[in-house]
Amino acid sequence: KARKRFGQNFLHDPGVIEKIVRSINPKPDDAIVEIGPGLGAITEEILAVNPRLQVVELDRDLIPVLRTKFFNYPEFRIHEADALSFDFSQLVVDGRPLRIVGNLPYNISTPLIFHLLAQSGVVQDMHFMLQKEVVQRLAATPGDNNYGRLGIMAQYFCKVQPLFEVGPGAFRPAPKVDSAIVRLVPHKELPHPAKNLKTLQAVVRTAFNARRKTLRKALAALVTVEQLQSVGINDGLRPENLSLADYVKIADLLADSGPLNVEVDEVSND
Ligand code: SAM
Repeated sequence: KARKRFGQNFLHDPGVIEKIVRSINPKPDDAIVEIGPGLGAITEEILAVNPRLQVVELDRDLIPVLRTKFFNYPEFRIHEADALSFDFSQLVVDGRPLRIVGNLPYNISTPLIFHLLAQSGVVQDMHFMLQKEVVQRLAATPGDNNYGRLGIMAQYFCKVQPLFEVGPGAFRPAPKVDSAIVRLVPHKELPHPAKNLKTLQAVVRTAFNARRKTLRKALAALVTVEQLQSVGINDGLRPENLSLADYVKIADLLADSGPLNVEVDEVSND
């Protein structure tokens, strides 16, 4: 029986499962890690090509189910762990970057994505099933309704490619929301590297805490109007109008003046 607190909605539509696995395009030599394998719907298809698949699953009742179902794959490894605090770099073998996949539990998807972005140095790519709205936020650009902290930080680290939508009927039990598949590919070289990542996070967070205000007001605690103008940013704009490159410029202004007096919480849901 699916457990609500683990965000369990199991995929059962073979056409959708096949489409997901086709877009992942697993190869025999890839270092693939699946988060939240559940009853093994995607797992089974990946194992058929890549018998060294590793999975991270929190629900201990599912572990024996997976072991039994996939007993004929001796190299298959199950890590009973919480993906939110899991150190994925420990799964790297021979320096091969990880390909991370998962139909993620929607109740923890935002903090989990932030946790994975922080580890993108060991990642080749990531394919996730998410609530459709979260995929829209990840891919949002300045001016979009969904543009904010999640999209900016995801695009700082990764190229974001929304792939396709999946309706509630593909799952059991059916979720109340529409879902979508997204591909995140970490940049080999960051297009807009910030001098200090924590400062960038603090600036973006502070700005979007007051997304209806002008920048002058939203960032008043951090920068002066003159400072904004010195990097060519109009202080009358709103936080949703600034690009990632603009946020990096503001953060770099502040980076040299030491730690900011603002809290940075990497696992927040906003
Ligand atoms: N991949 C399966 C499928 O597509 O049918 C299951 C997807 S279900 C939406 C999410 C899965 O993530 C469940 O198996 C759940 O037990 C697991 N899970 C929930 N929280 C987790 C966490 N913090 N760390 C690892 N796995 C978790």
